[in-house]
Amino acid sequence: MSKPKTPQAIRGTQDIFGPDAEAFVFVVETFERVRKLYRFRRVEMPVFERTEVFARSIGETTDIVSKEMYTFDDRGGESLTLRPEFTAGIARAFLTNGWQQHAPLKAATHGPVFRYERPQKGRYRQFHQIDAEIIGAAEPQADVELLAMADQVIRELGIEGITLHLNTLGDADTRDAWRAALVEYFGAVRGELSEDSQERLDKNPLRILDSKDPRDRKFVAEAPKIDAFLSDDAQRFFDAVTRGLDAAGVKWQRAESLVRGLDYYRHTAFEFIPDEGTAAADALGSQSTILGGGRYDGLMASLGGPATPAVGWAAGIERLAMLVGERGEIEADAVVVLEDDSRMGRAIATVKKLREAGWKTELFAHGSPRKRFDKARKVPAHVLVTFPVTDDKVSTRVMGDGGEVHTAIESLVQFD
Ligand code: ATP
Ligand code: MG
Repeated sequence: MSKPKTPQAIRGTQDIFGPDAEAFVFVVETFERVRKLYRFRRVEMPVFERTEVFARSIGETTDIVSKEMYTFDDRGGESLTLRPEFTAGIARAFLTNGWQQHAPLKAATHGPVFRYERPQKGRYRQFHQIDAEIIGAAEPQADVELLAMADQVIRELGIEGITLHLNTLGDADTRDAWRAALVEYFGAVRGELSEDSQERLDKNPLRILDSKDPRDRKFVAEAPKIDAFLSDDAQRFFDAVTRGLDAAGVKWQRAESLVRGLDYYRHTAFEFIPDEGTAAADALGSQSTILGGGRYDGLMASLGGPATPAVGWAAGIERLAMLVGERGEIEADAVVVLEDDSRMGRAIATVKKLREAGWKTELFAHGSPRKRFDKARKVPAHVLVTFPVTDDKVSTRVMGDGGEVHTAIESLVQFD
């Protein structure tokens, strides 16, 4: 009989372990700390929604909806989709739960999202995002608060050389006029554009500006700029955002062709991108955007709700984790070595007491006594506690320069 084959992981998923897992959790913990500083409320969202939640809010013509969603019928015949992002689900929840009463609602969450993309470094089919949204706030101050928070998350992660690239997409009038100018400009060179962009020309010409194809890039530089079409209101809004960012000390740079992939954006659109030539840019290669977002005043209406202004961002946890540097294994305060199993009960009681007192403690009671010592010595801990074979005493030894710790442990645990 042949040995049964072990099933492989799904392409584009990751099993995160060791220093990578510590880096991942460092990103999440830093985000959690910073969102509390800004008093964003935590929300926990379902991993799947009715397909229409994403189709209607993100837009049928976007890459996400047209090519990247994991969509399936459940056993009741309902079309469901694994969330490709958080914003649409949070907007749905805002409407279905009556969260209007909390507006402006500052909400934050993190977790897995799913997109059917070609897997490569920094690009996966299941990845993870941290996400922050301010819903029900029309003022540019909300954009500033949200961006200041993003900036602080990145700085507290210790990531250097990242710049906020900022654009405005204006209001509806601005967008329509700009769009018409882009159609005229790109229409004149239609045949020289990539196949994808020829299609975008009909469906959503703004997105040609977002193209990475060199055939498109060479026309993008000279394409009409939005500033020529900005209404007075849109210009005032943008000015208020940039003044606020300056006041908050958030460095930014204007990115006139930044449009973002999704249909629902208005006014502010932004991405945090590593500066060229920095370690961060090298580490990420071509998958360089670490955080992106903007204002989505039109989204709630596309879900059938009342017009509700909102602004938000999401960042890839894996991409951030690649930039935070080596995170060692968890440190220990004490390691306890049991040399002889006859004293197992004592050892178990000891580690229990230490952990209850808040000491990070590991018990080594597996394998030969020599192996137990060898393993324990590899852990950088302040105290080594041993239960030797030869006598019924306990020895506590201070490692490194933790003299105080030695006294503390004796007062915590009565050894025999
Ligand atoms: P990209 O241009 O890299 O495809 P995007 O515009 O599709 O990014 P968003 O929808 O704005 O990305 O998602 C926010 C963040 O999520 C990105 O800035 C990135 O850090 C991360 N991200 C997006 N797609 C992936 C993926 N497939 N794998 C890992 N991280 C991702
Ligand atoms: Mg994408």
